[in-house]
Amino acid sequence: MAAPYSTREEIDEAHSALTATFATGRSKDLAWRKWQLKQLWWLLEDNEERILEVLRKDLDRHTFESCMTDLLVLKEEILDFLKNLDKWTAEVKIDAGLIFGYLSKSHYRKEPLGVSLIIGAWNFPILMALLPVVPAIASGCCILIKPSELAIHSEALLRELIPKYFDPTAIRILTGGVSETTYILEKRWNQIFFTGSSKVGQFVAEAAAKHLTPTVLELGGLGPAVVTKTADIDLAARRIAYSKFINAGQICVAVNHVIAEPEIVDKLVERLSYWNDQFMKEGDNPMCKIINARNFDRLVGLLEQTNGKIVYGGKLDKEATFIHPTIVRDVTLEDSLMSEELFGPILPIITATFEDAIQCINSLSNPLASYIFSKDDSVVQDFLNRTLSGGVTVNNVVIHSSIRGAPFGGVGGSGYGYYHGVTGIDCFTHKRTVATPPSWLDGLMAFTYPPYQLSKVSY
Ligand code: NAD
Repeated sequence: MAAPYSTREEIDEAHSALTATFATGRSKDLAWRKWQLKQLWWLLEDNEERILEVLRKDLDRHTFESCMTDLLVLKEEILDFLKNLDKWTAEVKIDAGLIFGYLSKSHYRKEPLGVSLIIGAWNFPILMALLPVVPAIASGCCILIKPSELAIHSEALLRELIPKYFDPTAIRILTGGVSETTYILEKRWNQIFFTGSSKVGQFVAEAAAKHLTPTVLELGGLGPAVVTKTADIDLAARRIAYSKFINAGQICVAVNHVIAEPEIVDKLVERLSYWNDQFMKEGDNPMCKIINARNFDRLVGLLEQTNGKIVYGGKLDKEATFIHPTIVRDVTLEDSLMSEELFGPILPIITATFEDAIQCINSLSNPLASYIFSKDDSVVQDFLNRTLSGGVTVNNVVIHSSIRGAPFGGVGGSGYGYYHGVTGIDCFTHKRTVATPPSWLDGLMAFTYPPYQLSKVSY
């Protein structure tokens, strides 16, 4: 059953309560932070079966995939923070020479920004709601979590568990759709961490700007995979097919479309079809479904309008909102399948030379992820030097987003800000420089006071 949406009164109350708690300094205490991180660990550990069950209900996702993505990633992040919290949040000495460094004991403190609003997406409904909570707790913030309303079973479970495991004076959850989130965004938060689409990211940024609230936008985009004639085609096909298979391609770092050189496009299509056959072979429920009828209809609509050639898949099950992995070749930049982030198991292939591929990528908004397949390092370097994306994996997919501690975030249309590991601390803290010059320094620095004497300065 879906969780009831939060009322305006509940939103007002949560905002006031969290603001009041932050003012007491409760969430700044290092022991409190560690306790809350451990509570998050226990939330996952005690409720593993229920979490896997809601992910099955929301997305019909295989348990293996849910363990690998939602659970494992979250647990690793918690352990990493518990191990390093003291070091990562400690004040940092500033090496500014004798007077302003050593004698003034200059350093900066990583001050928690205050009350953070964390808004999650539905594709990994547990992970996207809780992963940013780890650095937010570690930084000493109070937190309001607003998970996606589209993954209704995950949303309901989070609504039940968050008050049970976390300190309710400092960490809360509110639920709702567009109108509730719009009302939440009217309030003054001290930090906003948003995961979702570029379109909604703009609304969030606008709302944040009214209060000058520092914001992290973790968005998506049209992530390309360029397969060159110098690539290992079979390996490229296997890995690209895999990126459209996990979560049925409903991943921000999935390959959105392939740009393949003319010499290898036939072989690539053949190997992609082969690997899709392998991935879909028997087994229980190999690939998950599309989250809901609206997204299913959106994808089907784009597929119906394509001018490309469907060369694999195309089978649809409306009732189960399931789309079989589908390959469409001879797609152009103007095609319906290139009009928006697909976020589904449809793979358009554009045939183009490497030079045209670079132009094509640069004509679109900067994606969150891009992929280059080539065994020739000079081609890889050329790709890196002439394009820009949130991250890149060379000769593979998705890996750059799962390297522990590697900054993960978008650029341009795919957002701003980074997290994962220590980089997450920067999202939720302010670097506050503190200088403590000794009073006797005035003797040494008397010449800096008026009346000025130019003869005492050399520059
Ligand atoms: P979405 O933007 O539709 O929704 C995200 C959140 O915003 C939800 O909690 C939703 O309730 C809220 N929301 C929706 N419309 C709103 C509005 N008009 N005003 C205020 N709030 C609103 O995104 P989604 O469909 O949940 O997720 C898919 C998108 O998220 C894709 O673009 C994907 O690439 C991106 N994504 C990015 C990352 C990342 O880490 N960069 C991770 C997962 C998903």
